[in-house]
Amino acid sequence: MSYVLPVPPVVALPVSGTGDHIAARRVYCVGRNYVEHAKEMGFTGREPPFFFIKPTDALNVVPAGSTGEMAYPSLTKDLHHEIELVAVIGTGGRDIPAAQALDHVWGYALGLDMTRRDLQGEMKKQGRPWEIGKAFDQSAPIGPVVPAAALPGIHEAAISLTVNGKVRQTSSTSKLIWNVAETIEHLSRAWELQPGDVIFTGTPEGVAAVVTGDLLVGHVDGLPDLSVRIV
Ligand code: MN
Repeated sequence: MSYVLPVPPVVALPVSGTGDHIAARRVYCVGRNYVEHAKEMGFTGREPPFFFIKPTDALNVVPAGSTGEMAYPSLTKDLHHEIELVAVIGTGGRDIPAAQALDHVWGYALGLDMTRRDLQGEMKKQGRPWEIGKAFDQSAPIGPVVPAAALPGIHEAAISLTVNGKVRQTSSTSKLIWNVAETIEHLSRAWELQPGDVIFTGTPEGVAAVVTGDLLVGHVDGLPDLSVRIV
């Protein structure tokens, strides 16, 4: 086949400790999925999970052992960090029951759902779509993928983010309102999942602003740390 314009590159997620990669397909994100974060955003109680999507090329892949860079984005004065456990789908499907959902997960990674909070807030107020606040270029830094089989404790793992060495976010993946299996159950009712789909599962409390020069280091027990500098 011949193309008249350049073909966009595959977004390749490195598999931790190997030379292998996973071609990312779609990036789904869960909103407000930890109770204390829902509260800090002005909501209470358990609501059904809801989703938004980032463009695949918003993934900002940070290779193992290196510090990635994220350019401070345009239009905002309030760029927020959201550290998140990320699930990567290995086997697709639709209407996947929660009891079988983890069999569809190939592995896990650490990600940052970077957010232009001022723009997101303005869109919320006006009842408009969130894309300008969430789906901008480089908005999804992500580290290497670790196979699920190597992560038996991932559903009760400490998750944290430091900025310039100070702890901003700290929680446990056991505090997800909708756990990974339940999230996949809901998500696969709305979209047929496919291999390479990437799911940002939501952020714990403590979201706050970063500025140019800040160094963000995310941690989840069992995964390589994710280091990103805002430039
Ligand atoms: Mn998020």
